Amino acid sequence: MVAVRLTDSDGATGCGYTVLHAGHGDALLPIIDNVFSGILLSEDPRRIERVWARMWREHHYSGRGGLVSFAIGAVDVALWDLRARCIGEPLWRLLGGHSKSVRAYAGNIDLNFPVEKLLEGVRRSLDAGFRSVKMRLGKPDLHEDVARVTAVRELIGPDIELMADANEAWRTDQAMRAFRALREFDLIWIEEPIRPDDYAGYAHLRAHGGVSIAAGENLHTVAEFAALIGAGGVDFPEPDLTTCGGITPWMKIAHLAHANGLPVTSHGAHELHVHLLTAVPNAAYLEVHGFGLEQFMAQPLELKEGMAIAPDRPGHGIDFDWSALQAYRVE
Ligand SMILES: [Mg+2]
Repeated sequence: MVAVRLTDSDGATGCGYTVLHAGHGDALLPIIDNVFSGILLSEDPRRIERVWARMWREHHYSGRGGLVSFAIGAVDVALWDLRARCIGEPLWRLLGGHSKSVRAYAGNIDLNFPVEKLLEGVRRSLDAGFRSVKMRLGKPDLHEDVARVTAVRELIGPDIELMADANEAWRTDQAMRAFRALREFDLIWIEEPIRPDDYAGYAHLRAHGGVSIAAGENLHTVAEFAALIGAGGVDFPEPDLTTCGGITPWMKIAHLAHANGLPVTSHGAHELHVHLLTAVPNAAYLEVHGFGLEQFMAQPLELKEGMAIAPDRPGHGIDFDWSALQAYRVE
């Protein structure tokens, strides 16, 4: 996790963060310290589009995605939080305020669990009130994936919604075999069947696979989403503000999806994404990710009968327990 805290000249504050795999966060610090801090000190923080464009342009040569998008994301969230706190509004209302709640699903991370432990996780999700759950796919043998989906579907019955995430496990031909084998299980979607930038492969699977597709957590720019959506490769665009450059591009991707008649869903960072999904008219699902930061937050995400409720606290409403986070601090 890389966190950014901003203080404006009136003393108002905003906080943003992004999340990366272990050991990658250090690479973001010089980008933020050496370049973004100078931009922030010279600009009006209310002019978020302008600040965002400058951060993007400064790294045009080495960026346009990847780690730079993660770094911009952390700052952009802090800017939106600052702006919303200054006017005393929760982000979901400032960004559009379409709904107060969004259907949530449990994004379980269970590929390496034996079947009994996989089912235990699903039971726990149902006990917590979820009416939609996601499991992982991508075993070396497709028959094993099919057996695991069979076991989960038998446990939850026909009325609980089931998604499945392959995390890029397959080539297109392998994915097509998997789609055929999994058609009968009434999956809401299969997520990231193949590598994220094979837009033609996604279009082929969507046209012929017979199961809806979700993708986007590994796309890092609006342009990549425009390419995937434009290719006809996705049913559920799944931008993650921590990987695509923050709230500013996330909203553009959500509106792009809407203009193309598609819903939008999210990946990770559920305490932030609950605001974005409830802001827009085309929200489908909030992923409540298996790796959460609840233990470091004063008020975790509110869930009620399978719905996630956006908080009315100003900004994103997340108050981190900085003393608990201190134990993990690297600087
Ligand atoms: Mg995923």
